[in-house]
Amino acid sequence: MRNTIVNDIIRLIDVNTPIICINDYDFARVDDIIAEAAGKGSKITEWNPSIGACRFNTKERIGVSEVSLENFLIELLQKEDSELNPVIFKDYYVLREIQSYFDINNVNTKVVATLQLLAQRKLYDRKFDCTFFIVNSGGRLPAEIEKYVSYVEIDFPSDSELDEIIEEHIKINNAAAISDEDFRKLRLSLKGMSHFEVDRALDMAMSNNGTLSAKDTTLILQQKKQMVKKSGLVELIDAKEKLEDIGGLDALKAYLERKAKVFKDWAKADDFGVKTPKGIFIVGMPGCGKSLCAKAAAATFEAPLLKMDMGSMMGKYVGQSEENLRKAIRIAEAAAPCILWIDEIEKAFSGVGGNNDIMTRMFGYFLSWLQEKKSSVYVIATANNADNLPPELKRKGRFDEIFCVNLPNAEELKAIFTVHLSKLRKKHPEEIDILLKQTQEFGNFARGFNGADVESVINETVEKCFLEGKKIDYASIKDTISKTISISKSCKKQIDSMRKIFDESSFIDATTGEMTGKK
Ligand code: ATP
Repeated sequence: MRNTIVNDIIRLIDVNTPIICINDYDFARVDDIIAEAAGKGSKITEWNPSIGACRFNTKERIGVSEVSLENFLIELLQKEDSELNPVIFKDYYVLREIQSYFDINNVNTKVVATLQLLAQRKLYDRKFDCTFFIVNSGGRLPAEIEKYVSYVEIDFPSDSELDEIIEEHIKINNAAAISDEDFRKLRLSLKGMSHFEVDRALDMAMSNNGTLSAKDTTLILQQKKQMVKKSGLVELIDAKEKLEDIGGLDALKAYLERKAKVFKDWAKADDFGVKTPKGIFIVGMPGCGKSLCAKAAAATFEAPLLKMDMGSMMGKYVGQSEENLRKAIRIAEAAAPCILWIDEIEKAFSGVGGNNDIMTRMFGYFLSWLQEKKSSVYVIATANNADNLPPELKRKGRFDEIFCVNLPNAEELKAIFTVHLSKLRKKHPEEIDILLKQTQEFGNFARGFNGADVESVINETVEKCFLEGKKIDYASIKDTISKTISISKSCKKQIDSMRKIFDESSFIDATTGEMTGKK
């Protein structure tokens, strides 16, 4: 991979690209790549906010005092041809962490204009043969200079590269060889981490007991969780829930089970001609098990669950929001096979189509990624409100299916009571065995409740019985049900409006599997 990137950069230099932008926070690795692409002995000068102008290799300051970015660029622009190397002036400039000059609300026009002039001089003055690298940890560049820029992305290590890195660590540490199965598990746990992070994780695993084995995956996954969290864009969720923990929603559960079979045996399914599963969109009433489905899907698919926080995507620098979304998707793709859960997607994309350009561009990027997606990232998007969703999201070809989750019917309520009562079985075996026979009645009493209401009825009853020093019984549960204000009462307006949308649109009913909207 390293060679591919280096070759890509060399090609860009050869075709006279004035500015090459590399967005990556693994600066040490980026430096290696730039040095290799520039070639041995080439002159590379750096500017960074901490030192100012300095030598690229040693970070030794050039000049006596710190020079501002504006002055650094202007001085360069004003160099006379005679000051340039008479034969050929092949120079490289690395501008590091300069995204604060491109703050959406406060773009530094002087820096932008000078960069633009430098890029033009590079294109039209043959003696001015220098290439600029902009190395940021994120963000795009302002439109005025973007036409002179090529972006280079440093991918996460591929499977074969991960194998090489693992082997290297075993060799360097003189550690014992490991089995194929251990190798596979280690590789899987390292997917989606940068080269630098993989090295660090393996160093830590190695320092534990001097060898590597499948046992180290726990430690590696902990590291990965932190790393993913640090990105602030996606979170690795430790989901314990299984499909059996969901009461009702039979059609959706059966669907997920079927997809899981395809997903787990993807190589064979692909050979057979099965289309790459894209994912599902679940719209539904609050507290009815949408999140639960995303979490249980992870166990069923036997894949890690990455939750994307759309709210955290919005950045303050030019293009940073789009870049964040790209980055989040890249993390998910690198961690594939995985489930990417986008919670409350409506909050992120409800402004689309209005005058929010950034949102509209992000939405476009997301949709085209979803439509063309070939990787085994299974997307589960959930939404509480189907009111303002852009119609493009609902169009076929994006998600495989769109399910709607209604308030549970009496049968489903019975099943939800069963799920939550069963969780107490170990602690109160006799009482719960009796109560489990009465779940149908609880289901009938609790009409208009959602799953979250049922869960809270059980929790409150348990607490009350504990405080009153009595056993958990039928009367106490019935009493709590009668005192609980259900979702249908507390959020009547929202529930009614959702029902109307379900009746008018074409969704698949998560309970029955039938198409809605035929009325
Ligand atoms: P929101 O849209 O408000 O985030 P949601 O539909 O994602 O709600 P969940 O977070 O899945 O709802 O459910 C909230 C809680 O209610 C869960 O912790 C779960 O215990 C319980 N619950 C909801 N639906 C069910 C169900 N069908 N079966 C069992 N428990 C349920």
